[in-house]
Amino acid sequence: MNSRLPPLPALRDFIHMYRLRAKKILSQNYLMDMNITRKIAKHAKVHENDWVIEIGPGPGGITRAILEAGASRLDVVEIDNRFIPPLQHLAEAADSRMFIHHQDALRTEIGDIWKAETQRPKSVDWNDSSLPPMHVIGNLPFNIASPLIIKYLRDMSYQRGVWQYGRVPLTLTFQLEVAKRLCSPIACDTRSRISIMAQYVTEPKMVFQISGSCFVPRPQVDVGVVRFVPRKTPLVKTSFEVLEKLCRQVFHYRQKYVEKGLKTLYPPEMEDEMADELLKKCRVDPTTTSIRLGMEQFADLAEGYNEQCIRHPGLFLYDYTNKHHNLESLSKEPNALPPPVPV
Ligand code: SAM
Repeated sequence: MNSRLPPLPALRDFIHMYRLRAKKILSQNYLMDMNITRKIAKHAKVHENDWVIEIGPGPGGITRAILEAGASRLDVVEIDNRFIPPLQHLAEAADSRMFIHHQDALRTEIGDIWKAETQRPKSVDWNDSSLPPMHVIGNLPFNIASPLIIKYLRDMSYQRGVWQYGRVPLTLTFQLEVAKRLCSPIACDTRSRISIMAQYVTEPKMVFQISGSCFVPRPQVDVGVVRFVPRKTPLVKTSFEVLEKLCRQVFHYRQKYVEKGLKTLYPPEMEDEMADELLKKCRVDPTTTSIRLGMEQFADLAEGYNEQCIRHPGLFLYDYTNKHHNLESLSKEPNALPPPVPV
């Protein structure tokens, strides 16, 4: 297969040719330096004949780098119609390797893109130490980076979407602060809910940083490129949703004792007893703070809370900010129990 692209106008000329100007509303900050876009493809470990999905290709800087790296199939998901003509220009140069999906990535099930493809590389078992020759890559708008990573982490935890094909690695850009939070170790100030959600199901690594000055127009912040490799076995056995709810409440009071956040999982009449039971069962010091809890403690707390939810129907749906919530009525809701624990 020939991975070389025929001569194309430089990225900067592309912007002028197709009259592309960054739309603030979609947080568009383009990467014009091919050295950086090639570095992203290199750190994503795209090899000859790999299959790739790119989210938010824009004028196509990373797209070109992925094609140059030899991907034999590249599907791009782009919401903004102004980018479709320049992307079509690239697709024509890419010799049937590139496919454009003019869609909102937040509403796209990227796993469906390759479903009917008979030439798709073979899936690799989740327990295999090798990764499938597939990748998801994107320099995302900051406003969709967080909801999208949560969507993808959830899909990974259920081994669905593109993760039905195995431990497909994901390489995405984030505002530096968010990238640090995703990779934050225990007891670090940046440790937060997203650190736990990312780290229990993947091993995230910030592979390099990009100065804001490398983008056009320049954003206010620097950017971190994070590569997520799904773990063979998640570090927590409960469903994604149960862990997410626990983490949300525990990190709600970051500076306070962990007990305070935990109590918000329960209606006031049972909060002392239930929080105490959970902490004792998990041998967690009630006066520690959320950032000092390790992954094993989160696993114990989530499993203990899951067990309490099974014992007290309706508890999982309880929201302490809703004054009308009570377990009796919540237990009658259709999905009153937490979703099943994945096997
Ligand atoms: N990847 C290009 C680069 O590195 O130069 C463009 C990056 S720009 C930060 C983000 C891109 O994502 C834009 O092309 C924008 O139109 C696109 N985008 C924004 N929201 C999107 C969404 N919900 N779904 C798909 N693409 C989106």
